[in-house]
Amino acid sequence: MQHALALVLLLIPYLALARELKKRATLKVSYFSGPIIQQVQVFPVYYGQVTNQPLLDQFYQFVVKSSVMDVLGKEYSWPPTNQFISHGSWIGSYIDANVSSATALDDRTNVQPYLKGLIAQGLINVTLNTYIPVHFAPAIKITHLKTTTCVDVCGYHDTLDIRDLGIPGVSYVAYGIIPDLSTDACAQGCGSASEFENTCVTATHELTEAVTNPLFGLATGGRWPLAWYSTNGVVGEIGDICQNVVTTLKDEWRNTTWMVQTVWSNSEQKVTFL
Ligand SMILES: [Zn+2]
Repeated sequence: MQHALALVLLLIPYLALARELKKRATLKVSYFSGPIIQQVQVFPVYYGQVTNQPLLDQFYQFVVKSSVMDVLGKEYSWPPTNQFISHGSWIGSYIDANVSSATALDDRTNVQPYLKGLIAQGLINVTLNTYIPVHFAPAIKITHLKTTTCVDVCGYHDTLDIRDLGIPGVSYVAYGIIPDLSTDACAQGCGSASEFENTCVTATHELTEAVTNPLFGLATGGRWPLAWYSTNGVVGEIGDICQNVVTTLKDEWRNTTWMVQTVWSNSEQKVTFL
């Protein structure tokens, strides 16, 4: 679901955070029998001159093999899904430096046909495990149904229908939209860390939701093909419960750290700090 743009600080002061976490402890998501992504294969698309593009590839290489995925595996696999979430992989990325100069794009009339075109051209090899996060150059806004990035939301994920491409066994692909967070209201409303760290937090939010609810975009009402979701209208998906709560993970291989959004533990009904 959408990562709502909030005009509050991402790093909530400690006492306020404790109160906030206690409040969230009444929340829960349910399983609606839909598929999940078991071994995510992340293939980022960079639309235009995206800030920090090489670092974002490194971030995805890290996060798909991090404790973020371990918690997803523990909390959102079997039972009850009879599917197993494990570590995923970064399978490459596509940099499109020669995009149109349009700064206002529409999800259905611009972004979805664009992604479908990349798949049709064989530039993205899709499977049931594919997740395509699309990162945008500064100043580009994407309107998605009734919301617009950096006006209403910091990012979102949705589902691309590729049935007409005739790819055996793959009818739908999960994708995420992450705008440049220095754009308009995103500069203040999507976290108080650095722009790059805020981008990693939003990227984690959408990745974890795409993995646990990849066919969200096809669902009408609270039923299949939803996977993990809450229909009480407050929670939404697992990323939404932990929104604005971040943590920093150590990357032993690169000897660095990455900021991520925390992950919801449904069994303990609390935010997991990984
Ligand atoms: Zn969300």
